[in-house]
Amino acid sequence: MKKIISLESLAKDPGCLSEYDPNAMTIDKARKYIRQFLKVSLKTEYVKTEDALDRILAETLISKINVPNYNNSAMDGFAFNLSSLKKDHNLKIASTILAGNLSKQKIKPGFAAQVMTGSKIPEGTDTVLPFELVKQENNTIFVNEIPKKGANIRKLGEDIKKNGEVLKKGSFLRPAEVGLIASIGISKVKVFKKLRVAFFSTGDEVVKAGSSIKIGQVYDSNHFTIQSMLKRINVQYIDLGIIPDEKKIIEKTLKAAEKLSDAIITTGGVSVGKADYMKDILKKIGKVLFWKLSIKPGRPMAYGAFKNTPYFGLPGNPVAAMITFYQLVQPALKYLMGQDNYKLPILLKAKCISPITKRAGRMEFQRGFYTSKNGELSVKPTPYQGSAILSSMSKANCLIVLDINQKSIKVDDFVNIQLMEGLV
Ligand code: AMP
Ligand code: MG
Repeated sequence: MKKIISLESLAKDPGCLSEYDPNAMTIDKARKYIRQFLKVSLKTEYVKTEDALDRILAETLISKINVPNYNNSAMDGFAFNLSSLKKDHNLKIASTILAGNLSKQKIKPGFAAQVMTGSKIPEGTDTVLPFELVKQENNTIFVNEIPKKGANIRKLGEDIKKNGEVLKKGSFLRPAEVGLIASIGISKVKVFKKLRVAFFSTGDEVVKAGSSIKIGQVYDSNHFTIQSMLKRINVQYIDLGIIPDEKKIIEKTLKAAEKLSDAIITTGGVSVGKADYMKDILKKIGKVLFWKLSIKPGRPMAYGAFKNTPYFGLPGNPVAAMITFYQLVQPALKYLMGQDNYKLPILLKAKCISPITKRAGRMEFQRGFYTSKNGELSVKPTPYQGSAILSSMSKANCLIVLDINQKSIKVDDFVNIQLMEGLV
């Protein structure tokens, strides 16, 4: 069903005719389609544990040991047998056991061993009291407060059990996971090989930073944003340069990209302009699954495949290229990298402190700046929201995510925001 747009609204917003294209796909549907056509087919390799940061685990790790592998003290204090505590609550100090001391000495009833954090709990004792809770006089300690049995003892295997699962195949390795792998004594780990992603930008007007620029030309910022976003997710980047709007050269470059990579990304040339050839070429040599999304910015985004290599044709406008990358391409690449359970950052509620004009029919990702006061979030859109205004991305610390059916926002309405921190 076609929407009727009044002349008045058209004058205010010349882009509105195309905004409500009934053939445009919702972002949820697009995400589903993308996923449906992706197949993970990565090889694996071993890397040293110290080099495993930001890689994806390609094996499920089982621990061969208990962590900790001995009962040990959680505090600097005294270890003793609780039931041997006499009426007068005093104990004789038998010895001092430092962390790393493997002595097999047994502590007799009525005695205590001085222990440090990480010291092995000596035989004959079952409870530790920190120094602060006992009074010491020469070789005797007085226990002021009766602790619970087992207090301040870290038990054998309480972190990780021998033969227990430590990490699942498909886990993304953050600093904590890298440490965890080391904590079970593993120095080499099997990970998926890095995903190879080929990129080229298109446009007769697009020139490289460092060269001179003429009126009517634009520096290629997409190359740098896309490359940087790919770096952040640790893929192997294959740079195929800036390609003019010429069908033959584009086709040749796409063919080269397919041979070299596991996924292809381009920017520009996916809209309905006279020099927008990407869809036609892909249709000819591969397939196009969709190319129009009901989101702003990012309406013209193509998704398809050439042979078995997925293709993401991002819009030329720099903000639109970044938003579609984060919202659609990054999750897809994470999946192709072998990572399970990648999720975009959750939406948080924030009070909108300036009005936003919006009509139902398209989902919007406005660039926003949030602040936090007494645990409450407020947000306002950055001043200029055009899809070519890259400085709006730089000024933003969040995206304001407005649902397809959302209409204009009044001051003090709550909106959903997505923090940039989790995206980049
Ligand atoms: P297109 O999607 O090819 O119609 O391009 C849309 C807009 O984005 C045009 O104004 C282009 O000049 C601009 N643009 C395209 N590619 C780039 C790029 N690599 N870097 C910066 N701007 C670009
Ligand atoms: Mg173009």
